[in-house]
Amino acid sequence: MRAAVTREPNVMEMDEVPDAPEPGPGEARVRIEAVGLCGSDYHLFTGEIGSTTVHGPQFPKIQGHEVSAVVERLGTGAPAHLREGQRVALWPLRGCGECYACSIGRSNTCPDFCLIGVHVDGALAERLTLPAQQLFPVGDIDDPGIVAFVEPISIAVHAVNRTRVAEGERVVVLGAGLIGQALSLAARERGAKVLLVDLVASRLELGRLTGADVLDASGVDDVVAEARAWSGGQGPQVVFDAVGSPAVLQQAVELAVAAGRVGVVGLSDRAVELPMGMLVAKELDILGTSVCSAEAFAEAAEIAVRNADVISKLISRRFPLEEAPEAIAWAMANPAEALKVVVEA
Ligand SMILES: [Zn+2]
Ligand SMILES: [Zn+2]
Repeated sequence: MRAAVTREPNVMEMDEVPDAPEPGPGEARVRIEAVGLCGSDYHLFTGEIGSTTVHGPQFPKIQGHEVSAVVERLGTGAPAHLREGQRVALWPLRGCGECYACSIGRSNTCPDFCLIGVHVDGALAERLTLPAQQLFPVGDIDDPGIVAFVEPISIAVHAVNRTRVAEGERVVVLGAGLIGQALSLAARERGAKVLLVDLVASRLELGRLTGADVLDASGVDDVVAEARAWSGGQGPQVVFDAVGSPAVLQQAVELAVAAGRVGVVGLSDRAVELPMGMLVAKELDILGTSVCSAEAFAEAAEIAVRNADVISKLISRRFPLEEAPEAIAWAMANPAEALKVVVEA
């Protein structure tokens, strides 16, 4: 079958690889329809974020973890709600099943979790064989590009669950990249009011489609003061860092109302300095959120169905599978324009 193979850092090429195997017991083979590319893909592609080697070497690797697919063949013992020919989103994660995190149902924080397209081969290929429990039917969405959004939306659903976003609350999302947009959508689904903050005007325009108010930080002296004023004066109940930068997390901690919550969704390996007195005085809950749970993934599929119109407008550009190397190159070279690039079969 055809696949985009990342051979070594910064080298992705189309190649002929062995076909995805017949599904064994509890497995399924799917035909890939669409794959979204995201920041994690870029970091893995450049070799900047190394994956663990528990599941094998980092390269060569077929990337792709935001996936729309059709069930081609089910192995014996597959869950009864799955059938061949069905369109599904792929939950990319499985835990080791043995560690403490896995034992309490939080495999998304398993130190040895395995993500398709990161730790093992993923979906920038014609077909993939994987455990059937990672398949989530999506009902009748016609556009596979929208189904590929279920994965990034699931990250946002998990983050609003972790931070207990509730009806009528004020939520500020710092960063209007794709995850920021998904956070806005998920928090709005919970009945919260959302302010989306970014430096890029075009992203904020898209953010309005998700139902958020927006704040262009490039034209503002004091982002914290402006966002606090929007919240009604005391500060929002929940603030998300959807950037992954120490300065943004500092802003989030300062901005959140006393007794509020801060969700850390952006990824960074940098250290951050925080005022301890403020953490004590405000009793903030600072909550890291990693990938998502199976429950969040199932809900994300429902949110994608309900918001298909908005999501379709968040797709910046589509490429055919044969041009996957061009797709990732374009996405990385055009960060302001490339909110979401989708590779299609
Ligand atoms: Zn992703
Ligand atoms: Zn585990």
